[in-house]
Amino acid sequence: MKKVVSTLLAAALMTAAAGCSGTGGTNAPAAGGGPANTDSGASAKKPVIGVAIYKFDDTFMTGVRNAISAAAEGKAQTDIVDSQNSQPTQNDKVDLFITKKVNALAINPVDRTGAGVIIDKAKAANTPVVFFNREPLADDMKKWDKVYYVGAKAEQSGTMEGQLVVDYFKSHPEADKNKDGVLQYVMLKGEPGHQDAELRTKFSIKAVEDAGIKVEKLAEDTAMWDRVKGQEKMAAFLASHGDKIEAVFANNDDMALGAIEALKAKGYFKDNKYMPVVGVDATAPAVKALEDGTLLGTVLNDAKNQGKATLNLASVLAQGQTPNKDNTGYEITDGKYVWVPYKKITKDNVNDAK
Ligand code: BGC
Repeated sequence: MKKVVSTLLAAALMTAAAGCSGTGGTNAPAAGGGPANTDSGASAKKPVIGVAIYKFDDTFMTGVRNAISAAAEGKAQTDIVDSQNSQPTQNDKVDLFITKKVNALAINPVDRTGAGVIIDKAKAANTPVVFFNREPLADDMKKWDKVYYVGAKAEQSGTMEGQLVVDYFKSHPEADKNKDGVLQYVMLKGEPGHQDAELRTKFSIKAVEDAGIKVEKLAEDTAMWDRVKGQEKMAAFLASHGDKIEAVFANNDDMALGAIEALKAKGYFKDNKYMPVVGVDATAPAVKALEDGTLLGTVLNDAKNQGKATLNLASVLAQGQTPNKDNTGYEITDGKYVWVPYKKITKDNVNDAK
C-alpha cells in the first residue's frame, strides 16, 4: 500500500513538474521553487534533468550546453549549472540536484577521476547519471548499471589531426624548411589528464610517423584548452625556436587560434610566410580561420550530437526506461557508451562543419 501511494505521489509530482508545492516523492522534482529551468513549457510529465558543466567559460562546452537545451525542448526540463572548474563545487551541485530530487543527472566532470564519487551519490539516491565529454575511468563506469557516457573517441580525433598535417607535408615539399627530412613540430596539449589531451597528443604524432614521416618535438605545453594561453605559449615557442618550427599541433581550436595570433605577430600568414596549424572542434571562429586560410585544418567534434545524445539518454533514464537505439536515436556500445564520430575538416569541406 505504502509503495502504491508513493508511486502515485511521484507520478502526481512528475505531472505537476517543478515549481509547485508538495512533499516530495521517489525521484520526483523538488517542492517549493523546484529546480530552475531553461525550458519554460509547463506541459505534463516532463522529467527534470540536473546538468552540470565543468565550466561555462569553454567554447566547445558552450556548444554542447546549447545543444542540450535545444534537445530538451518539449521533452524535459533542464537545470544547467556551472561547476566553475572546481570538482568540490560540482559535488555540491550534485548534492543539491539530489536533494531537489531531479529525475536524472547529466554530468560533465571537472576531473574525470572524480566521477566515482558522483556515481556513489547517484546510486544511493537511485538517480541515473549520464556523463559526457570527460570520460570516467572504466572501473567507475562499472559501479552501477544506470551510468552512461556520451563522447567521442579521443584517439580518432588525434589520428585525424595528424593526417591533416601528413596531407599537407606530402603535397608541400617546401614545408620541410631545413630539408632534413624530419618534421620539427610544437604541441599545444590541453589539460593534462583529460583523455582528449593525452590521446590527441599521442595519436596525432603516431599518424605522422605511420605515414613514414620522421618527427622531432621542439616543444610542448598544456595551454589548458585556452585561447589566451595558446597565444602566450606559442609566443614563447617562437622566441626559443623561431623558424625551426615546421608545424603546430593544437589539440583544440581555441589554442590553435591563439597560436595563429602569436604567429601573425611574427609576420606569418602574409608575404608567403606560412605555418601549418591544426586544431580540433570546428568551432565557428575556427571555421572562419579555415576560410581565411590561417588554420590549415580541424576535426569536427560534434557538439550538437553529443548534446542531443546526452539529453536523450538522460530523459529516457529519467522515465525509468533503459536507453536503446529506438528510444534515444543513438547506438549504445557495451551497454553504456554512445560514441559520436569525428570528421576531418579543411577549406574544401568546410560546409560540413557549419
Ligand atoms: C574539446 C575542448 C574542450 C574540452 C572540454 C574537448 O573535447 O576539444 O575544446 O575544451 O573538451 O572538456
